[in-house]
Amino acid sequence: MQPAIPLSGPDLTEDDIRAVADVLRSGRLSLGPALGRFERRFAELTGREHAVGVNSGTSGLHLCVRALGIGEGDEVITTPFSFVASTNCILFEGARPVFVDIDPETYNLDPGLIDSAVTPRTKAILAVEVFGNCAGFDEYERIARRHGLALIEDSCEALGGRLDGRPAGSFGQCSVFGFYPNKQITTGEGGIVLTDDPQLASLCRSMRNQGRSDEGGWLDHVRLGYNYRLSEISAVLGERQLARLDEIVARRREVAEAYHALLADVEDVRLPPQGDPAWASWFVYVVRLADRYGRADRDALLASLRRRGIGCRAYFPPIHLLPHIRARCHTGEGEFPHAERLADRTVALPFFNGLGAGHVAEVVDALKASLCELP
Ligand SMILES: *Cc1c(COP(=O)(O)O)cnc(C)c1O
Repeated sequence: MQPAIPLSGPDLTEDDIRAVADVLRSGRLSLGPALGRFERRFAELTGREHAVGVNSGTSGLHLCVRALGIGEGDEVITTPFSFVASTNCILFEGARPVFVDIDPETYNLDPGLIDSAVTPRTKAILAVEVFGNCAGFDEYERIARRHGLALIEDSCEALGGRLDGRPAGSFGQCSVFGFYPNKQITTGEGGIVLTDDPQLASLCRSMRNQGRSDEGGWLDHVRLGYNYRLSEISAVLGERQLARLDEIVARRREVAEAYHALLADVEDVRLPPQGDPAWASWFVYVVRLADRYGRADRDALLASLRRRGIGCRAYFPPIHLLPHIRARCHTGEGEFPHAERLADRTVALPFFNGLGAGHVAEVVDALKASLCELP
């Protein structure tokens, strides 16, 4: 059953819908002009030389790993507290994810723990802007440079965010955004790779399109490739959504601030890390329960919120404890205590552009009432 106040929802205008209908009427549904326009706009926005649109954030991450030549026998340092795709893309190529614990203040990879995880097999750092927070990326760049490693920025949650004025999507060798309907902007399904490296861009372009080359014909496949193309239907929707990015980021900031204000004096609930509020781009609104609660309490709280018609979720289960990761990487409980302690206590509350002040108040009231039911 759909909750009365859902966890997330896309922000689509009549203009967006008209633009999609126009593409459908044009008859040109793939590899057309909208894709190029969307890519150019994205490159401008992030200050990157090249942009390659793809059919999901996961596809984009996979292409980055592969284009950087990362494969069997290589290690990639990454975070256990993220959406699973940031680890899966390493496994797709047979490389080994090496997890490093998070900074409990930012929820991002702890820069202070990276050096000691580097080995002669390390090829890259794959870091994630968790919940849209860019904290740490300047340090990851310095660390990567010092060790001669590539930095892959999984910026899928951070569109519109900045760190000291630098936009998300501008860090490291390559960056990836995703456009699933719960992200800041959506294309239904979609993603994009950004880089300044012409060779990396050209490899990603070829591999998203069945290994075709720019010069060759439709059936000249010069390397192993995939079908990771972004359709014109998606690209035009992305173009329309991107035109409203400033408005969307500002609106999400308003919703986050409404939550901050009402939650500030709720005992037992810690607000999400913000970084610099003027440069934050909010993906989700995730609160953390006090340490005296455990996973069972949190799960009871989620159930109670749902009974009250409030959409909610435990973002994220630690990646190193997922069954397929345990089996492949021989990871287990207790290895990354900050990530585990956080993961047991998170509650993602309803968060989207259209969430009004009245709904925010309703969610906070339900949260308070649910907290009272805990032992
Ligand atoms: C959304 C997301 C992705 C990409 O997801 P897709 O559904 O494949 O577009 C990758 N990494 C993180 C951290 C994400 O939140």
